[in-house]
Amino acid sequence: MTTISNGRATALETPRILRSSDAVSRPRLENRPSAAHKRVLLAAPRGYCAGVDRAVIAVEKALENFGAPVYVRKQIVHNIHVVSTLEKKGAIFVDDVAEVPIGSHVVFSAHGVSPAVVQEAADRELLAIDATCPLVTKVHREATRFARDDYEILLIGHAGHAEVEGTMGHAPERTTLVNSPADVPNVVVTNPDHLVWLSQTTLSVDETMETVRLLRERFPNLLDPPSDDICYATQNRQVAIKKVAQDAELVIVVGSANSSNTVRLVDVALENGAKAAYRVDYASEIKQEWLEGVATVGVTSGASVPEVLVQEVLDDLADAGYADVSQVVTAEEDLMFSLPKELRTDAAGNPDARGLGGRVKRLDWQRDGAFDGATQQRSGDA
Ligand code: SF4
Repeated sequence: MTTISNGRATALETPRILRSSDAVSRPRLENRPSAAHKRVLLAAPRGYCAGVDRAVIAVEKALENFGAPVYVRKQIVHNIHVVSTLEKKGAIFVDDVAEVPIGSHVVFSAHGVSPAVVQEAADRELLAIDATCPLVTKVHREATRFARDDYEILLIGHAGHAEVEGTMGHAPERTTLVNSPADVPNVVVTNPDHLVWLSQTTLSVDETMETVRLLRERFPNLLDPPSDDICYATQNRQVAIKKVAQDAELVIVVGSANSSNTVRLVDVALENGAKAAYRVDYASEIKQEWLEGVATVGVTSGASVPEVLVQEVLDDLADAGYADVSQVVTAEEDLMFSLPKELRTDAAGNPDARGLGGRVKRLDWQRDGAFDGATQQRSGDA
């Protein structure tokens, strides 16, 4: 555990996104007397993952290179603050490529798209930039390969989620969606000896393993995916909040309601010792009554959340007497992805030495080109 501050939290990274307090009126929390020492346990890793960082940079760089407007199919990442900030810069978010004027630039979100969407964009002569996270692309490739080899695919994921729609679209005839352990008794397959399970990247690890256990009870020859589909960022954030939740009466998770990995963090906190856990988009949503009788508050954020929003939560908690902030570190992350190929040049068409948008270093193994999606880098426990 690392103490990062004995007073008001200091910025841990330079924010690219406007502070929410620029636009949102934020009622202050009161510092009510308490017999116990008030403190915050701040989970690490938290916040932006490599795929989200790449996708947000992709939109920013598309605006820089091609000028506004740049269209984005679906929310580029599931965070309302990121989306509204990019809208102010000239991005236009649409649900369907049919809404994009012919010949315009369109960015596909980090959650990925089906081949049918790619084809529709080509038919409309759109200039597509694919910001699909390479770890989602990895799952797409698995789905395509197993379908080609005549496997039936049991995809564990949430109906209606953009990533699930994109993955199912790579093998629509061969894929059955399994939402949760409760779905398992109703799963119908043609050949129980030629089955593989894959998953959405942002699920609860524990719940997914329970679903797999139940599936394997019914289908003993069920094949595992070649590597973890639940991504390193989702897993690392869940491990960190598990540790924090053991010592925190209250956990606050920063992130949006449609962010799957954010919502899972609330579940994981409650399952691992927190007496209460709440999700907030902004610090202004923290309610005074949540803090009644609470000595230790755990704080984390989903993989699509800019750090500035966490800093605002820490600032408000400091106002309420929780100025002692200790960071609970369970892993170090240094994974980075190359930008989509259309964005590796600057506005003049010259190779862009920044490669990843200018804020992070490139790794040696990235110099040959884009991440191939075959493996994930995950650090050991710190
Ligand atoms: S949460 Fe995982 S799969 Fe999703 S964008 Fe981040 S790294 Fe990629």
